[in-house]
Amino acid sequence: MRIAILSRNASLYSTKRLVEAAKERGHDVRVLDHLKCYVGIEAGNPTLYYNKEKITDYDAVIPRIGASVTFYGAAIVRQFEMMNVFSSTKSQAITRSRDKLRTLQVLSEAGIGVPKTAFASQSKDVDNLISHVGGAPVIIKLLEGTQGIGVVLAESKKAAKSVIEAFYGLKADILIQEFIKEANGSDIRAFVVDNEVVGAMKRQGKEGEFRSNLHRGGEGEMIELTHEERDAALCASKALGLSISGVDMLRSSRGPLIIEVNSSPGLQGIETVTQIDVAGKIIDFVERNKKKKAERDLIG
Ligand code: ADP
Repeated sequence: MRIAILSRNASLYSTKRLVEAAKERGHDVRVLDHLKCYVGIEAGNPTLYYNKEKITDYDAVIPRIGASVTFYGAAIVRQFEMMNVFSSTKSQAITRSRDKLRTLQVLSEAGIGVPKTAFASQSKDVDNLISHVGGAPVIIKLLEGTQGIGVVLAESKKAAKSVIEAFYGLKADILIQEFIKEANGSDIRAFVVDNEVVGAMKRQGKEGEFRSNLHRGGEGEMIELTHEERDAALCASKALGLSISGVDMLRSSRGPLIIEVNSSPGLQGIETVTQIDVAGKIIDFVERNKKKKAERDLIG
């Protein structure tokens, strides 16, 4: 197979591992920086260029799209899809899951547990928003934040009000969310490939930190998920239309609550902690689906 990996940087751990796993399986693999791709649009003839070279004959694409370039990255993936190239993550699912509010809306519609959340545009009625999620302490999150930056814990109603007003003053879109105290500064990352949880880890924030992000100094440990947690991860992935995802959840007294679903989850943390060849599982998934697609095309 000819596989393209869309990534800004070929030396990133996840990109390197995917290249390695593809080569081990005998595939012809190339890393393309999506920001160096451009699309050509005309009736019935979608084209794609990399620098000046026309891109043709790829069987599959694996998008690794960072949060800061979601719009552009998703457009390039969409162009591959229009050219009938199998994408391991659909462009629509990338944009859908990148938006924290939309993710929570989709999950709640599917009946999947999420923390109580309020969203309002520049509301004057901050008291009501805070009460809606059960009162202080509350979590306040920038809609566009990643790696734990832009997630604030306000311990009192007074603090919550001033943080919310400050964000509104900056015209930032925020979510106000119930604080899941019993998670104890930890969360769970379940890595899903093709409707199966291939690995899971618990991440614990450092002493005195409520955020468990590895980027914020959190540490991961391998864990076994409960049936309920496994089901929640698989349902969340499916509801968002993702075949490959990193589902983040909090262990609460009323069961697992999903806070985020990542469409380009990093491989370094999960592979290091679990010692599982997640990159290999992703390439195996691409192989299976490329085969299915070829069979469908033959029948069609
Ligand atoms: P980001 O996308 O920036 O990582 P998250 O929503 O995943 O933002 O939040 C970062 C971390 O903060 C989570 O990994 C978790 O440890 C903690 N956290 C987030 N939401 C809550 C919450 N509602 N209650 C308790 N802790 C939370």
